[in-house]
Amino acid sequence: MIIQTEAIVIRSTKYSDSDCILTLFTRKMGKLGVYSKNARLMKSPLMSGSQIFAYSNVTINTRDGKYRLSNADLISNFYKIAGSVEKTYLGYYMLELVEKLSMEDQSNIRLFQLLADSLYELEKNDNIILLKTVFELKLLDYSGFRPNASRCIVCGDSSSLGNYFAPQEGGRVCISCMGQVNIKYRYDSTTFRLIEYIQNNHISRVLEAKISRQIIEELSGLLDYYIKFHLSEIRLKTREYLILD
Ligand SMILES: [Zn+2]
Repeated sequence: MIIQTEAIVIRSTKYSDSDCILTLFTRKMGKLGVYSKNARLMKSPLMSGSQIFAYSNVTINTRDGKYRLSNADLISNFYKIAGSVEKTYLGYYMLELVEKLSMEDQSNIRLFQLLADSLYELEKNDNIILLKTVFELKLLDYSGFRPNASRCIVCGDSSSLGNYFAPQEGGRVCISCMGQVNIKYRYDSTTFRLIEYIQNNHISRVLEAKISRQIIEELSGLLDYYIKFHLSEIRLKTREYLILD
């Protein structure tokens, strides 16, 4: 069988002096482990499409349940990301989150588009903390972990919402249900509005908006707790290297 799809290299591992094994995140089939023969050789037509971050139109051959890269037409290698240490770390963090939260042989088109859009934004946009925050919030949404900011997570009502967020339960909690959740944190109401704004708008639109640094930092802190509760078992290695100033 031949598969043709867009793909982003989320991991590239040396297999021999000439070959490598890629983890691709593809538009049509989600995550795939693909053998890339001779990709480490300078003259190989697969070389540029086998580098980490490479975004290409790929052709993959399948035989005996194994995937083999047979062609890669590069769309972008996002080379400008490598010009900044903090962008590089954020880029690796994005790739790791996608790798851990995506499924093999199962497409997640919204997540694929989010990763492609975010890498383009990472090249040109210097608002690293906002980009990280928007990426995390949308990724949680598209991976089945959407934080709920518009209704009470316990009773579902939206009429008497306070400013408390219960990360373990996955959302905001109303005044009458406050006693039912153990761990809750108070946030500015603008932070909840920002969550809804990010959830309802394209990443490029959010990045153009004027948002106060203080609110972005508050949301970033909220997501830290949220990720700690909901994604602790996936043990993110790149997260501790993020430099946000
Ligand atoms: Zn409630």
